[in-house]
Amino acid sequence: MTEARTSTPMLEVRGMDVAYGGIRAVRQLNLHVNRGELVSLIGANGAGKSTTLRAICGLVPLAAGSIHYQGKSLAGQPVHAMVRQGLVMVPEGRGIFPQLTIEENLHMGAYTRHDKVGIVDDLDKVYERFPRLAERRKQTAGTLSGGEQQMLAMGRAILAQPQLLLLDEPTMGLAPIMVDKIFEVIQDISSQGVTILLIEQNARLALEVSQRGYVLESGELTLQGPAKDLLHDAKVRAAYLGE
Ligand code: ATP
Repeated sequence: MTEARTSTPMLEVRGMDVAYGGIRAVRQLNLHVNRGELVSLIGANGAGKSTTLRAICGLVPLAAGSIHYQGKSLAGQPVHAMVRQGLVMVPEGRGIFPQLTIEENLHMGAYTRHDKVGIVDDLDKVYERFPRLAERRKQTAGTLSGGEQQMLAMGRAILAQPQLLLLDEPTMGLAPIMVDKIFEVIQDISSQGVTILLIEQNARLALEVSQRGYVLESGELTLQGPAKDLLHDAKVRAAYLGE
């Protein structure tokens, strides 16, 4: 019994189809993420990566298939219920509120929580991890650089106490030095025991920090396996690593 329970994936997507109108953006997708794993989903522009993540969070409907989180179906669950269970997404574009201060944005992450002491504690931890945000806590978030906004989005996700963090292109449009910083933070969050599904166009970095990876092409998974193997795969190297 115990063995069966511990082997239940944190996230399991089975036979998922997602369509926009008549156009099928994702076809028969099977994917899982085990507890504690950092898994990457890589692919070109328009391959269906964001659609996959949005479907997992219930933001776009499934045309077929199922999604289980910690062994339970997510069908029909509102977003706040998912957040309360620790399933937290950092969307592409970050989804921060530019008119609110950094501190107010961070508090938004804790909207499903009632443990005031715990929230203050986590806020301190986020400020410790991101001193730039601490320095600017009373400033409106719209004044931050792109990289700082990404840090804010990740800080806000930390305040939601994630068990499974879904990251949609966290390094999109950032300068190389910021990309490195974001990857440091991702590894740091992962080392705290948070399970992560990472969507990235920067396939090399994503695979370097991941245990496993999936490759999505035109809505279908074409390759999957240990990240180390994918990094050495001739097709991956040619198509995604610029070699
Ligand atoms: P990118 O890195 O460019 O965001 P992606 O791999 O995340 O790419 P998706 O954004 O999931 O890809 O898009 C998959 C396909 O679905 C694309 O052909 C896209 O044009 C289409 N698509 C995405 N969102 C919508 C929408 N709201 N309505 C119609 N078609 C959409």
